[in-house]
Amino acid sequence: MKKTFYIVNLGCSKNQVDGETVLALMEQKGWKYTDLEHADVVIINTCGFINDAKEESINTILNCKSSYPDKIVIAAGCLAQRYGKELSDEMSEADGFVGNRDLYAIPDAVEKIVKGKTRLVSPKLPSQDCFVERSTLFTFPRSTYIKIAEGCNNNCTYCAIPLIRGQLRSIPADIIMKEIKSFVKKGFFEINLVSQDLASWGTDIGQDLIYLLRRICRLKGDFRIRLLYMHPDKFNPSILPLFKKDSRLIPYFDIPFQHASEPILKAMGRKGNNEKYLKLIASIRKALPESVIRSTIMLGFPGEKDSDFQCLMEFLEEAQLDWCGFFTYSREEGTKAFGFKDKVPIATAGLRKEQAQDLQNRITEKRLESYTGREIEVLVEEVIAEEEIALGRGYMNAPEVDGAVILHSGRAMSGSIKPGDVVRAKVIKRNNIDLEAVDVGLS
Ligand code: SF4
Repeated sequence: MKKTFYIVNLGCSKNQVDGETVLALMEQKGWKYTDLEHADVVIINTCGFINDAKEESINTILNCKSSYPDKIVIAAGCLAQRYGKELSDEMSEADGFVGNRDLYAIPDAVEKIVKGKTRLVSPKLPSQDCFVERSTLFTFPRSTYIKIAEGCNNNCTYCAIPLIRGQLRSIPADIIMKEIKSFVKKGFFEINLVSQDLASWGTDIGQDLIYLLRRICRLKGDFRIRLLYMHPDKFNPSILPLFKKDSRLIPYFDIPFQHASEPILKAMGRKGNNEKYLKLIASIRKALPESVIRSTIMLGFPGEKDSDFQCLMEFLEEAQLDWCGFFTYSREEGTKAFGFKDKVPIATAGLRKEQAQDLQNRITEKRLESYTGREIEVLVEEVIAEEEIALGRGYMNAPEVDGAVILHSGRAMSGSIKPGDVVRAKVIKRNNIDLEAVDVGLS
């Protein structure tokens, strides 16, 4: 065996950072990263958050083994962490399973599995989380994620994340700053800070997000910082003036409200309600009129009545969120909500999800209309030369989850713009959930 490997990455951006970290650790141990066709070992970095994600992970393992029976297929990531024992007993299609609690342990675990010494490695939580310089990223050019904390202390009653990833462990500011500086030095433009809840960052080590953002603002360089995922009950509006002062902080706020009805939020282990969350949104928009607000909403949580759903629909109507993802409740063993009564039928939850999504689509489209005529920066991700088009994202588009900007540019044809370039563009119209814009020059 030539010790070549490939990683199939599933799940969220935090998992993606883990995948990139594992890649770097494997290379340090002499493994060579290659494409799927040429790899001896395929590591599937699974997700185990909700049922749909678990299904996708299992199907990926099955498909991989049936397409490549001669390769060694190893499941890593959240699903392997959460169900490693059960899976290694029952799922012969994978050659081995390794949990994600200690990424440093993965290369050795892979060696052991490859040599047939074990089928299951369940690393313990390390005394210190893994900080490794990542060489290969799964993102588009000049954009990266930086994970600034691991785990979560919020204990929302439906959420399995604390069971999988443990309690909050913030990465100290000095280490985060070192990583940001290194990406800025390499010419990265967009740095997306991620964790289970950025708003709680630092609370376990006597620091807070304002302190971290102030330090970032003292850095020199033409980069942008985007904050992804802030628990609404922990959101500290004192960060807003920093966004006003330093335009490198992108006024994009990803706040997973999950619901608006107080009894449902209370049952979820959250403190908010319709009024409080509308106030928070208003305060952000008052401080930063250009701000973009994204959220996620869960439908069909146990006990959700028609009146709770109505409250949510009124909230959506008033909140006028720019973007919102909807999903139905997934009953997860080990969570507090697993035993809750008053389950909502799957069909009802699905119908509510559809109705909420329909309403939000209309709101998102209306919000997007307001960009027409404005000049924005577009980070180019892909160039389609023959059509004189480039695809990219503006400040209103987080990577992977939101729409895109379709950039009309003669320079796409001549090859004088490429992925990673930042182009100034004038928005001419909305196209579904994308914006169309014309190139007015390099930034
Ligand atoms: S804040 Fe997010 S990650 Fe943390 S427990 Fe709640 S839903 Fe899960």
